[in-house]
Amino acid sequence: MRASREELSDLPVTDSHVHFGHLELGDGLMRVMDQLGISRLNVVCTPDRSRLSLVPDALHLKARFPERVYVFGGLDPSPLLIAPEEAGVHFASYVDTLLAMGCDGIKMIEGKPEMRKMLPIPPFDAEVWAPYWAKLAECGAPLIFHVNDPAEFWDAARIPDWARERGWYYGGGDFVSNEQQYAEIERVLGRHPELRVVFAHFFFLADQLPRLADILDRFANVCVDLTPGVEMYHSFAGDPDAAREFFLRYQDRILFGTDIGAKALLATPEAGIELEESRQRVSLVRQFLESDGEFDLAGEGGFLFGASEAPFRGIALPRDVLAKIYARNFERLAGDRPRRLDGTAIANECERLARMIEIRGAAGAEEAGDPSVARRVGAFFAAGS
Ligand SMILES: [Zn+2]
Repeated sequence: MRASREELSDLPVTDSHVHFGHLELGDGLMRVMDQLGISRLNVVCTPDRSRLSLVPDALHLKARFPERVYVFGGLDPSPLLIAPEEAGVHFASYVDTLLAMGCDGIKMIEGKPEMRKMLPIPPFDAEVWAPYWAKLAECGAPLIFHVNDPAEFWDAARIPDWARERGWYYGGGDFVSNEQQYAEIERVLGRHPELRVVFAHFFFLADQLPRLADILDRFANVCVDLTPGVEMYHSFAGDPDAAREFFLRYQDRILFGTDIGAKALLATPEAGIELEESRQRVSLVRQFLESDGEFDLAGEGGFLFGASEAPFRGIALPRDVLAKIYARNFERLAGDRPRRLDGTAIANECERLARMIEIRGAAGAEEAGDPSVARRVGAFFAAGS
């Protein structure tokens, strides 16, 4: 039988994986969250080619909604270009900068093969990263880490059209392979088993649950999030009993997430945060967790789900397990309320970013950025502190 949205549980839901590409989108994002019944959200920040960092925008949103918004700040990638042999030292000290501003954790997208090709990112187990991993292990800050992509992105015959159009076809030898990155990450975890890492998108192992189980068994501080990739939900549908057993066994290690805002970040910024597209994301994940048997999603436009004939299948988890996946596992990692912001630290970092953007522009950088948002956010916090 199919659970409609009205039949979903009334449990509080924290979305651990939301993107926020510009401070002007804040009201729209919070309206969508209200309409979809999401009580709290975590903004995961990615580097931005021209603006360098979207952390200022996210902290501005958090200042407006301090009880509802968590922020996982992204690294400033410029050391990779300026002083690559010391990048790990700079990243380690940037963890302090992010936490001092009031970030609740760290986000990395540096394991997405496209990023790894675009920036001179060293292998994650290379010596240059060592100070950074040591810092994270020591301070205990949680990390949400995007490593790899769906295996079909390396396969010309199987990659979906929408992914190819975004330049995410990784065949042809120019991109790092997923197996190489799994091996690098396992070595990092072996050296620092205390690292508190959430691998986004189920670590792209939804079709290899025994392998993921082995990783979770060996590294007690590793978690995964449920953010689509729709291919995850087709994989789960292939053997719903095995999926259910996995979710019951690892009920403390799985976090709810949606990627709401990713489309506005990547594809159509002018459209803002789209309610219908966001609703499909929430509906896919929640119906999978809560409904019993087949379900489908009406009227989605292909960005998220592409075309597939096979139905999704739910795993009807018990309420106490849902409560963990929806909110409590994230709270255990990031705190049961968002950390406080430090306006002076934020204003200082905004000024530094604005100057960096100006220097790049003066040096004729390919994508000369606009420092005005960083300046606006900096002035906002300077006035309040
Ligand atoms: Zn994402």
